[in-house]
Amino acid sequence: MRLRVLGTAAGGGLPQWNCACPGCAGARAHPELRRRHASLAFKTSPGRWYLVNATPDLGEQIEAHPELHPGPARRHTPLAGVVLTDAELDHTLGIARLREGEAVEIWSSPTTYRAVTDGLGLDRVLSPYTELRHRPIGPRPVRMDPDLAGTVDVSAVPVSSKRPRYARTLDLDGQDWVVALRLHDTATGRTLLYAPSVAAWTPALGDAVAEADCVILDGTFWDEDEPGRNGMSPATSTGMGHLPVTGADGSAVRLARSARGSVYYTHLNNTNPLNDPASEENRVLAEAGLHVAAEGMVIDL
Ligand SMILES: [Zn+2]
Repeated sequence: MRLRVLGTAAGGGLPQWNCACPGCAGARAHPELRRRHASLAFKTSPGRWYLVNATPDLGEQIEAHPELHPGPARRHTPLAGVVLTDAELDHTLGIARLREGEAVEIWSSPTTYRAVTDGLGLDRVLSPYTELRHRPIGPRPVRMDPDLAGTVDVSAVPVSSKRPRYARTLDLDGQDWVVALRLHDTATGRTLLYAPSVAAWTPALGDAVAEADCVILDGTFWDEDEPGRNGMSPATSTGMGHLPVTGADGSAVRLARSARGSVYYTHLNNTNPLNDPASEENRVLAEAGLHVAAEGMVIDL
């Protein structure tokens, strides 16, 4: 299974349009530090790719990678659909950018799809342009593109019931608001776990991490106090739905105990010192054998 990292930033990206914090200002001055919204593409069979999360940068993310370009027929695209980890705006706004297609396949938990339709109204708004087709995913693996000799089984590990702010009043009580995706290649026997939003280290998440050959995990905040220290929110990192990287209960300690494969962090907020490859925090992380995913990197599993 081939995977391509299309972006590694949390909501807002780096730089964020209305932010002059040191991280954003640095990325404006040094384009090599810029990060697009966190996203991934993976190939299920030759010439057939899926996006994981549809970000506001989706158009640029497609253009940056030739394997995702249309052709040779004028309207043939290798993009077969979108798999969602949750319904946050930075993971769903890109769906509207796919309206020129005949249909958009959305693979997600039932709760996330209800948020996209009943909360965002994307099915209604887009119906004059295209058709949304839901493919539900849950803990039981589903083979993607079996008729095309696809070898990827997708499943979802619920990781939190944190809902997007716009969905707070929706009458939905699902526990699958946020999931970690397991992508298992039946040909190679190898598995990727993609979890860009992790509020707490649950036993199910721990098991999935321990089984995976590669883990790409929530690195939104370096430590618990980062949102408050930067004037972003009075809440802690965990209070904002993101387990921090460091600290006694941080993800780095947990990963060091349970991960057996390679590990990369993604979904970095623009306040995160890990955005700067030369930072002391990056050195500390590397000493623990952990790294930040690079924009555009390829992972073969
Ligand atoms: Zn900023």
